[in-house]
Amino acid sequence: MHSPARMASLPESLPRICVALGFQTPEQLCAAAEREFKDGSKFLEFRLDYLTDPASGIEVMRSFRRNYPDSFILATCRHKQNTGYFKGSIDEQIKILEGAARNGAAALDLEIESAEKAKAAIRGMRDAAPLLVSYHNFQGTPALDPVLRRLRRIPADAYKVAITACKPSHNLRLLQFAREHRELPLVALAMSEMGVASRVLAPSAGCLYTYAAPDGQEGTAPGQIPARVMRNLYRCEKLTKRSQVYGVIADPVGHSKSPLIHNRALQARRIDAVYLPFLVPGTQLRDWMELAAGLPVMGFSVTIPHKQKIMRYLDTIDPLAKRIGAVNTVWRKAGKWRGTNTDVRGVVEPLSRNLRLAHARILIAGYGGAARAAAFALSDAGANVTITGRDPRKAQALAKAVRAAAVSLREAAAQPYAALVHATPIGMFPKTEECLFRDCIPAGTVFDMVYNPHETLLIRRAKEQGCSVIYGSEMFIEQAAAQFEIWTGEAAPVAVMRSALEQHGG
Ligand code: NAP
Repeated sequence: MHSPARMASLPESLPRICVALGFQTPEQLCAAAEREFKDGSKFLEFRLDYLTDPASGIEVMRSFRRNYPDSFILATCRHKQNTGYFKGSIDEQIKILEGAARNGAAALDLEIESAEKAKAAIRGMRDAAPLLVSYHNFQGTPALDPVLRRLRRIPADAYKVAITACKPSHNLRLLQFAREHRELPLVALAMSEMGVASRVLAPSAGCLYTYAAPDGQEGTAPGQIPARVMRNLYRCEKLTKRSQVYGVIADPVGHSKSPLIHNRALQARRIDAVYLPFLVPGTQLRDWMELAAGLPVMGFSVTIPHKQKIMRYLDTIDPLAKRIGAVNTVWRKAGKWRGTNTDVRGVVEPLSRNLRLAHARILIAGYGGAARAAAFALSDAGANVTITGRDPRKAQALAKAVRAAAVSLREAAAQPYAALVHATPIGMFPKTEECLFRDCIPAGTVFDMVYNPHETLLIRRAKEQGCSVIYGSEMFIEQAAAQFEIWTGEAAPVAVMRSALEQHGG
């Protein structure tokens, strides 16, 4: 087994984010490299195997380095048999990489399968540029130490381990592996949307760097995040092993706007922490708790489909959340997981700014998790609550639990209410032209919990009818602000959170 003999040849100041550029034409590659460099990414991977003519990338590299001498280019020409696109022989593959080294590549990536077949060429390659030997597994997460042993049989300047996360705890395995081997020049990451945490946290776990996608483009591997998001939203380069982790668990999670507002809030309050989207399928909640326990996760938001099931994994739950039967906020205190429901504040605060809740006749449409939070909270605040929905039995069940009335949708439309709280997904993206009320909306104030789009059809129609309106984004900000305060003990920077949401069309 060889220890990495030329560690010094990889610069100490290697940027922590490498943008992977895979394009078919030299023009596209050049344009993307320039764009990313100007956007602050000095470290770029040129995937020569993506080019129709891989050798054409070498000229791009030469002129790019001439124009941007501060850039750092990693050249990769992965073979078709090893999940790349290069169709030539291994000799040709190595020749292209050596050509890249002569024309400005500051490091070369050779996958383990080719490296094992071309051991005799390794020394020559390392003379040309520092060499990273890489392992990829697109199927799953195997035992990692044998992978590392295999890699280290090839003398190299750095080793890369890219596996696929199939469950949340694979992030933990990967990050623990990186921490245990932090003395080695290692790059380790878990691919797939489930591996996002590993991509963001890898440098703080001791990895040399992490990969990112170019802005607005597909990356070269599943789960790659745009470099701009890695840098500006997750502040990946600034995170350390002491940084705390927060996040949202959901399935799907990609659409969630929670990372946008919570990361901005953490930054505004200068808190050394990051808030990440965790894709957790309904059947993998236990596995998520394993990941949360092993990472410095101090709290997390809970959304569909986990708001009820999460309760069985918590040590304590506040009485109102217990009555509602749903938890949307979890935090860790003295080693114990605690749960509460901040949707309650999300409903009560915006509504009470618009009307006096005591004795107000309020119609709640829906009987799911959010409707339950509204029903308990408003009924506790003294409102006169009525529940409606498409299934009268379910509406009656919730009405009974909060000592409210239940009516059919048709009956509801025929009576005047002070406020309507809409708590179904009708009108939500992508079905934005749907609305629960076909004719007149029977309320003076219309509160639509749906916040994507910002202006739903229900809100538009309520405005036309002369109603006061409360946007779903108000509830979203309010419940998130309450989470922030529970987690950090600091006042939430609500204006910052609101502007982060507005910048993204919320
Ligand atoms: P949920 O637990 O899945 O409940 C969904 C409710 O909508 C159920 O009552 C369901 O009734 C009803 N529903 C679904 N499709 C329907 C349809 N086509 N016609 C009539 N009723 C329908 O979801 P949730 O967590 O309560 O969320 C409800 C909505 O509130 C979502 O749009 C969510 O994005 C929004 N929300 C917003 C915030 C915020 O911060 N703004 C917070 C929480 C939730 P059935 O059982 O009959 O299907």
